[in-house]
Amino acid sequence: MVGNGILKGLAETARNFFGSYVSKDRLTTVQYPEERLPQIEAARNFPFLVYDGADWQQGMRCVACQICEKECPPKCILIQKSADKKPDAVGKPQFYPAVFNIDISVCMSCQICVEVCPFDAIKMDVEFDLPTDDRFAGLLQQKDQLSKSNEYYHQIHPTEAAAVDSALAEERAKAEAKAKAAADAAQAKATLGAQPQPVGGESR
Ligand code: SF4
Ligand code: SF4
Repeated sequence: MVGNGILKGLAETARNFFGSYVSKDRLTTVQYPEERLPQIEAARNFPFLVYDGADWQQGMRCVACQICEKECPPKCILIQKSADKKPDAVGKPQFYPAVFNIDISVCMSCQICVEVCPFDAIKMDVEFDLPTDDRFAGLLQQKDQLSKSNEYYHQIHPTEAAAVDSALAEERAKAEAKAKAAADAAQAKATLGAQPQPVGGESR
């Protein structure tokens, strides 16, 4: 019958409308900002910088390689590399960003910075509620605002963060094994060099 679909649609709308007075599951809206829907794990908004441990400055994973700055399509990332190196979360001396800014009024949430980072240092946040009356300085996020802990990363993207942790642990184990093998080889060479060498030929 012509119009059957329209009647079915109207019936469903009426069921949801009247049902919403008795069942919260039929409510399609919430009283934002007092009420908020839980964020799903796949939600993405603006990037943030991940740090390990308790100290954001020491634990910052970013080594200021500037790949994300070069690849960002609208050029909304600004990085100034440090002149010195400081120990990272595992004590390895690394360069760090003296300045790391993202202009989120320009960021288009494409996630390319995340895809290209070789150090898993930049990830996508789920925070979207960033109102400000200052169009420029209020939307220019600096490294202290951008830095968030690995625990926070686990809270918002648990599956992805666990996979990153295990990949990083594997990389660190490989690097440690390689360093140990190199140290053992150097030690063996030094021991060999320290042994007394035979002087002259054999006596008759
Ligand atoms: S999400 Fe895209 S636009 Fe935003 S900072 Fe990263 S690369 Fe740039
Ligand atoms: S966030 Fe990643 S890609 Fe960007 S500068 Fe830091 S280490 Fe390099």
